[in-house]
Amino acid sequence: MLSSLLMLLMLAGAYLLGVMPPELLQVLGLKLPLKRRDPHYFLPTTGSRYLLFGSDEASMHQQFVDFFSEDDWQAHKALQAEINALREDVAPTWLAEPLSLEETAERFVRPGLRNTFVDLCRQPVSHYLDRFGFRSDLLRAMYAVTDGFSGLNGSWDTPGTGMNFLVHNMCRLPNSGGTWMVVEGGMGAVTQQLAAAARQAGAHIHTGAAVQQIEVQDGRATGVVLGDGSRVDARCVVVNADPFRLRTLAGKEHFSDDFNTFLDSRKKDGTTMKINLALKGLPRFRCLPEARGQHRTTTHLLPDEHHVMQSLTQGFADVQAGRLPDFPTIEWYFHTTNDPSVQDKDGHHSSALFVQWVPYQLAGSSWEAEEERYTQHLLDIVDTFAPGTSDLVVDRMTLTPPKIESYFGISRGHIHHIDNAFGFDQRFPYRTPIQGLYSASAGTHPGGSVAGCAGHNSAGCVVKDMGLTPWWPTA
Ligand SMILES: Cc1cc2nc3c(=O)[nH]c(=O)nc-3n(C[C@H](O)[C@H](O)[C@H](O)COP(=O)(O)OP(=O)(O)OC[C@H]3O[C@@H](n4cnc5c(N)ncnc54)[C@H](O)[C@@H]3O)c2cc1C
Repeated sequence: MLSSLLMLLMLAGAYLLGVMPPELLQVLGLKLPLKRRDPHYFLPTTGSRYLLFGSDEASMHQQFVDFFSEDDWQAHKALQAEINALREDVAPTWLAEPLSLEETAERFVRPGLRNTFVDLCRQPVSHYLDRFGFRSDLLRAMYAVTDGFSGLNGSWDTPGTGMNFLVHNMCRLPNSGGTWMVVEGGMGAVTQQLAAAARQAGAHIHTGAAVQQIEVQDGRATGVVLGDGSRVDARCVVVNADPFRLRTLAGKEHFSDDFNTFLDSRKKDGTTMKINLALKGLPRFRCLPEARGQHRTTTHLLPDEHHVMQSLTQGFADVQAGRLPDFPTIEWYFHTTNDPSVQDKDGHHSSALFVQWVPYQLAGSSWEAEEERYTQHLLDIVDTFAPGTSDLVVDRMTLTPPKIESYFGISRGHIHHIDNAFGFDQRFPYRTPIQGLYSASAGTHPGGSVAGCAGHNSAGCVVKDMGLTPWWPTA
């Protein structure tokens, strides 16, 4: 059985699997223990209104009508129908080298949705959502936050938040119904299965071996130097560390000024914070005291309807100025209700607050000075939705952007390496300008999230460049 600290560590980073293509599971022979959360979303308020999103359409419709409006229900249905169509059209591009947006539209997207697709990827997510006629700002905010802003350094008016919205809606896993799924045993189960498949195919995996340098001779990668000074010669080097680390490891001087300028233009601070919590009981929501599945969902804690837009706008402006927002958006996850196998020996629940946005660097203060106070401030917000939750906390682990940077080894703590606002051929390339040096990082197409696509696509480039024939099924 786990200690509470181990329970928190197990789920410290990624929790949900959404955008890994089912075709990739087949290619690699992965049999992941996936579980659909149903309901999967919960939108509580501090009053009596709420929404539970799940497969029970009749119940959802009734809640929309009771607590929001028929117009909002129609908008929700229209949004889902359109995003489902785009998802199916765009799916084949996830396991291929990226084209430009226009070429992607031309080759993959049905004619009636081509302009919509290009606009979605280029424009702020607000432009996309406004087309559906939601009457409720709270609902618009929920959609924008959970899929458009998640992990992104951008807000309502930031071009490319629509691209992130598309990435987060590419959920095609079997029986997912378009939702993000739980991997029983934690996300480590994905890594372990990938590692087993690699070993079976002849790979040797060395862990705990930091790379201190990528060796480059005559414009070609020739191997790596490890932390202990030992060398590993290689015909090619594939890097999943973020592109900024890749550049540092290889040496900036080996890249052209143009390429360095391109990469510098992608540099953005991570603005995501995660607070992992061990709870001695499940919270009781003010708007829905009885348990109706809300403790298995992604729960969206947002400011009240009347000032949600103003609050989000102010929050992002605060973050740009290095200030901590009074009410950032919070997605609240519950792990152990979906997967008791990750519960600690005392039966505590694992839960987490996923917070957008906070500054990477604070103006006039430091995270060391503010972390404890701000964590408590966020728990106070949680208490307004579910009174007494703070008292349920028996252990916690706060990951500020600088801590995400040091804990996971990601430059600037940006969880997607390169902002998902940059899509398709605007991301970091699989083939770097240094011969034999490849990237398989989340900073490449199709973007940040546990997807597996970058590894697949990068491997395809390596094999092609070596003049080999892929030994796996290709499109
Ligand atoms: C807190 C958090 C929550 C998230 N939640 C989700 C989620 O629920 N679902 C989801 O799909 N995605 C989620 N993500 C995003 C997802 O985890 C990433 O997009 C994904 O892990 C990227 O995979 P990657 O292999 O490209 O890079 P990473 O997982 O970042 O791996 C890169 C690795 O390179 C290592 N490295 C760096 N430098 C060196 C070096 N010199 N030598 C050796 N190794 C080095 C790093 O330590 C790191 O382990 C989350 C991310 C974070 C941080």
